[in-house]
Amino acid sequence: MQWQRGTVRGWGGAVGGESDVVRPTEISAVQEALASDHGPNGIALRGSGCSYGDASINPGGRVLDTSRMNRILDFDPERGVAVVEPGVTIRDLWRRSIGDGYWPAVVPGTQQVSVGGAAAMNIHGKNNFAVGTFGDHVRRFTLATPTGELLECSRSENSDVFHAAISGFGMLGCMTEIELELKRVHSGRMRVWGIPTRDLDDNLSMIEDLRESSDYLVGWIDMHATGDALGRGQMHRGVQFREGEDPDGATLLAADRQDVPTTLFGVVPKGWIWPGMLFARQLGMVGFVNAAKWRAGFGEGHRSPYPQTHGAFHFLLDYVPNWQKAFSPLIQFQPFIPFDAAPRVLRTLIEMCHKARLLPYLGVLKRHRLDKFLMTHAVDGFSMAMDFHVGGQARRHAVWDLTQRMAEVVLDAGGRFYYAKDATLLESSFERIHGRGAVEQFRALKARLDPDGVLQTELSRRLLGRG
Ligand SMILES: Cc1cc2nc3c(=O)[nH]c(=O)nc-3n(C[C@H](O)[C@H](O)[C@H](O)COP(=O)(O)OP(=O)(O)OC[C@H]3O[C@@H](n4cnc5c(N)ncnc54)[C@H](O)[C@@H]3O)c2cc1C
Repeated sequence: MQWQRGTVRGWGGAVGGESDVVRPTEISAVQEALASDHGPNGIALRGSGCSYGDASINPGGRVLDTSRMNRILDFDPERGVAVVEPGVTIRDLWRRSIGDGYWPAVVPGTQQVSVGGAAAMNIHGKNNFAVGTFGDHVRRFTLATPTGELLECSRSENSDVFHAAISGFGMLGCMTEIELELKRVHSGRMRVWGIPTRDLDDNLSMIEDLRESSDYLVGWIDMHATGDALGRGQMHRGVQFREGEDPDGATLLAADRQDVPTTLFGVVPKGWIWPGMLFARQLGMVGFVNAAKWRAGFGEGHRSPYPQTHGAFHFLLDYVPNWQKAFSPLIQFQPFIPFDAAPRVLRTLIEMCHKARLLPYLGVLKRHRLDKFLMTHAVDGFSMAMDFHVGGQARRHAVWDLTQRMAEVVLDAGGRFYYAKDATLLESSFERIHGRGAVEQFRALKARLDPDGVLQTELSRRLLGRG
């Protein structure tokens, strides 16, 4: 087994450091790595490294990177059930399934995410309100634990571990084989509406009005707008075609028809866009760009609905390669707020950003529902993801201070947080988010499956301590 020293960072580039990394290709090598002589910082599990913050980094320790365990072991085209190794990406998965009329039931904003990382974080999509989280579509997985066991976990076998490892941010063992069910699609595209929204209340009430009749809903928020326009933005609504509704849609059920284009307007290479975005940020034009985007939303509103492939609808962020470089180093802060408190709390959070003069360059609103996973981030309510450029020491300090103050407002309202997007929460928040009972249950499982505390990350040390 070869450990290679290198720099391992969170996706946003704001946190990271030197680690010894191993990239196994077989389960036996995963077990060997977990049993190896590790130092006080143990071993972090890592999929594609798409968590914005410190969830899959381990400065001063070891990292087990699953990206080379990337075989699709089985796909049943009748039932849409796949058995995969953990490093298979969402892109690998849909490319295999779309020809048979199946699409992953839950996908994030980038297709680079691995199935192991998606399950461990229990990721959500723009359809969380309708179909639940990624874990809701996992049927079973095999978990290699630091005690050397290979545990089979499902809703009926080791159900406690099943419900804790999904959402357990890689703390209980390494998922080495995952079985999941995909959803039927009858066309390679769907109907999409882009609808401008006046303010925050308009955004929130539109989601409520449309959610019974929509498959996907996501709100973009112009975080720079103030006064009566505070919280304005644009809602994107996706509705799938039912069987027979889109006669031409079947031809788009081909992997190559779903890939995101590599040029803008068919001419400009997409790789040229991020330097333009960087320039706009450096010139202080992000507010202007947001306002222009909001106005352009009216044109899109007039053209709506329009057909769009699944790939183009879901993976907008993959359209612009390396876009994060324009805002890097960056962190994302995504609080989840119960329904009744959401209008007040979201407004307060936006106002706090304005007061601190630290405006997120991006704000994204989603509707969520509860789930059964132990370390869940879910609420019956809304989340608002806010992306902050971090920059130098002074700005970093200010962003950390602001997000920690905002976290207090969210926790006081009974809200939760999502560790895939976190870099700044304090240890004291952990029990407030999950409640003492859930935390004790999680710690007991950790003590049983990983008694020596082998599995660690910067995130786990920040929130759980070393215990
Ligand atoms: C541009 C962008 C858009 C995104 N959009 C969304 C979104 O819409 N919705 C959403 O929910 N998330 C979103 N995310 C976050 C992303 O989905 C999560 O961070 C996801 O967990 C990343 O998967 P990964 O394979 O990169 O895992 P990593 O980031 O490498 O790891 C994530 C966690 O999983 C653990 N882990 C990894 N592999 C295993 C394994 N085999 N067994 C056990 N534990 C393991 C790690 O220890 C870590 O705690 C987005 C991220 C980006 C960069």
